[in-house]
Amino acid sequence: MGTGLLNIGQRRRGPAEGVSADSAFPRRDGVLRCGEVSLEALVQEYGTPLYVYNGDRILERFHAVRDAFAPLDLVIAYSVKANPNLAVLRLLGGAGAGADIVSGGELYRVRHAGIDPERVVFAGVGKTRDEMRYALEQGIMAFHVESAQELVALGEVARDAGVTAPVAVRVNPDVRSPTHEFTRTGHASAKFGVSPDEAVDLYRAIVEHTALSAVGVNVHIGSQIREPRPFLAALDVVLEVADRVLRDSGTDLRYVDLGGGFGIADGEAGALDIRALAAGVAARLEGRSLTLILEPGRFLVGDAGALLTRVLYLKRSGGKTFVITDAGMTELIRPSHYGGVHAISLVHDSDKGSVERVDIVGPVCEQGDFLARDWRLPVPSPGALICVRQAGAYGFTMASNYNSRPRPAEVLVHGGRPTLARRREEYGDLIRGERDD
Ligand SMILES: *Cc1c(COP(=O)(O)O)cnc(C)c1O
Repeated sequence: MGTGLLNIGQRRRGPAEGVSADSAFPRRDGVLRCGEVSLEALVQEYGTPLYVYNGDRILERFHAVRDAFAPLDLVIAYSVKANPNLAVLRLLGGAGAGADIVSGGELYRVRHAGIDPERVVFAGVGKTRDEMRYALEQGIMAFHVESAQELVALGEVARDAGVTAPVAVRVNPDVRSPTHEFTRTGHASAKFGVSPDEAVDLYRAIVEHTALSAVGVNVHIGSQIREPRPFLAALDVVLEVADRVLRDSGTDLRYVDLGGGFGIADGEAGALDIRALAAGVAARLEGRSLTLILEPGRFLVGDAGALLTRVLYLKRSGGKTFVITDAGMTELIRPSHYGGVHAISLVHDSDKGSVERVDIVGPVCEQGDFLARDWRLPVPSPGALICVRQAGAYGFTMASNYNSRPRPAEVLVHGGRPTLARRREEYGDLIRGERDD
């Protein structure tokens, strides 16, 4: 993606129209496309709002991570929560990805998509005993344990099941990542992980427990981080923990898991330099026989997805121009929840009006319902199609039925061929499961 669309450092943002050359959704003959397929054609077939994923781009990103870290023994455990659609899981699983999961439901999806459980790691501060039992039955690679009490529970569940649970402790490295407060997880006051000292104590308990075995060490410091520095600082902390565990309990951990959070270019700023990160990681792992696990979510699927929405009305009031679209926070909550800034443009060049700062808002009855604020856009006419980029991660998966709005369809375009990955919900779906007498 060209940096031309990034007005870094300006409070009011928005690309100069036509500058954005996103490889996943290029503009050709005046119309945005997903690869070769016109977004207009997809909307005619499947309606709006619509999520579109570029499968070729997802694989390109997977291979970019694999190649950057190539000399290392690497497992790419795709972070399922970024986009759990079965079509996406099958695509990545087929390319050799494992999975980073945070719930029993995600494990169910991953197994359904045929991903090898031996490449599945399970994170999260609140795993239930039922989820632990299910994951033990499935034979996952490791539990990423986040507290002493969770470790006790896992030991009991494993003993009752007559199996040994593979464990890595999630360390809180007390690294502050330069990202939104809600997507920052690696500082000491976050709910995630345990301190390095407590981690060493937990490894001692693991080694002494007959139904637990210490297999690795894990860290995950946050999301949409655009610089290598905090990752490398976190890696230094966990490698030190691994060394202390070896000295303290004579256990040689097999892997280090650096988590995910690799930043992508969006409407606000540029991407993490994955090669620079890989170089720093390789230098630190030199001479150690550790497998590296990475848990990218957004980096693999974020800019491979777009949300297409139709303009319903234009409204000028209070000195502002509102573009009211048929998608809002129910379809894409990132702008209102995290301050996420998506690059937004018109699908058709011919819809170009004069460029203004506009608020792009949805139909949901909340003042916090918006897709963008003060975004530079050629003022569109009602009926125009709008493309919201970088919507492949934390998009549909965070969609809700609030205001009783059926959730949109999802389409995967792979090798020039669109397939419906999830049908649009109907009104009947809204009341399914409710008592109705
Ligand atoms: C969410 C999450 C990830 C993925 O984060 P991205 O920003 O999507 O790469 C990886 N690991 C864990 C433990 C997570 O919770």
